[in-house]
Amino acid sequence: MRLIEIDLKKLTHNYNFLRSQLDPKVKMIGVVKANAYGSSINIIAHKLVELGIEALAVAYVDEGIVLKKAGIEVPVLVFYPQVHNFKKVIEYQLEPALYSKRSWLNFKKLVKETQNLDYPVHIKYNTGLNRIGFNPSEIEWVIKEIKENIFHVKSVYSHLAYSEATRPDQKTNFQIELFQKIIDTHNKNSKEKIDFHLLNTSGIFNYPNLHLDYVRTGIGLYGFANQTQWNKKLKPLAVLKTTITQIHNVNKGETVGYNFGWTAKNDTKIAVLPIGHADGISRYYGHGKGWVLINGKKAHMVGNICMDMTMVEIGKINCDEGNEVIIFGTQSRADDLAEESGTISYELLSGLGSRISRKVIQ
Ligand SMILES: *Cc1c(COP(=O)(O)O)cnc(C)c1O
Repeated sequence: MRLIEIDLKKLTHNYNFLRSQLDPKVKMIGVVKANAYGSSINIIAHKLVELGIEALAVAYVDEGIVLKKAGIEVPVLVFYPQVHNFKKVIEYQLEPALYSKRSWLNFKKLVKETQNLDYPVHIKYNTGLNRIGFNPSEIEWVIKEIKENIFHVKSVYSHLAYSEATRPDQKTNFQIELFQKIIDTHNKNSKEKIDFHLLNTSGIFNYPNLHLDYVRTGIGLYGFANQTQWNKKLKPLAVLKTTITQIHNVNKGETVGYNFGWTAKNDTKIAVLPIGHADGISRYYGHGKGWVLINGKKAHMVGNICMDMTMVEIGKINCDEGNEVIIFGTQSRADDLAEESGTISYELLSGLGSRISRKVIQ
């Protein structure tokens, strides 16, 4: 058994807490990319809509199609649409971010060809993350293009490189100032109201004066804030569970796993768990790194994590084959486990594979 339990009461709690941090006029974009951070995109999306989220966002077009096919009716913003998928953007009425002259001109051509004038789009600027977005020096070009009235520009946005930093932070301040100039220039040149947004989850907490018209929140909905103080206010949504497949006695000096990866220092017992690196349990675990909870007790991962299985030392923990094992959840947190393999909650959660079943608790 491999299972991710998704308790929708926790999602409601996180949603309400994030809302409580916002002025009532600030709208929320719920980020459900990567299968809602490894949980279950359709379940999370429908619940967020029920809770009153104004819009949803995904990374790629195919993820947006999943939402549309599931009957989601709030706007679906696609952060990183690829030019070769633009036809599908229109077919499924998704709202693309346009982030370069190439993306703009290709989408414009398609909108004209298919007579979809006034199509809703979002404009992304690169203010310093250097990932995706128009260079701020291209703003005059963008504004000239907007004046052709081919698109309905719904929002203009950017993304901070280090929203986890609390002020004062010079580079972040520079990004903020740059975005402020972008806002001013767009407002000066637009008759219609444009929405602006800059912040992800950490930004909501660290930059309360910059919530603007929208915030884009992903990890916060799933219960993590990247900061101890705020973590306490949220509830980790997913619990990853499995059961013990087999228990072995291992004598002092015997080894466990591929490449004789771990040697028992004493006579001990190990439990074999039916989950491995193909399911998203990093191969960096297992050498003193990573542990699970069995009957409330810590059992450390030992040896090399296999593709399909993981061995843990149970020593004297009172347990049997078939017993439940918590890999992460509420007491043992996904962000702490992630840290043990040198990564972050985002990577651990979004990397959880499709072999793990998902169970919803209403
Ligand atoms: C993924 C993503 C977010 C959500 O970030 P969190 O830290 O999970 O809240 C926001 N904006 C953009 C552009 C993203 O790609």
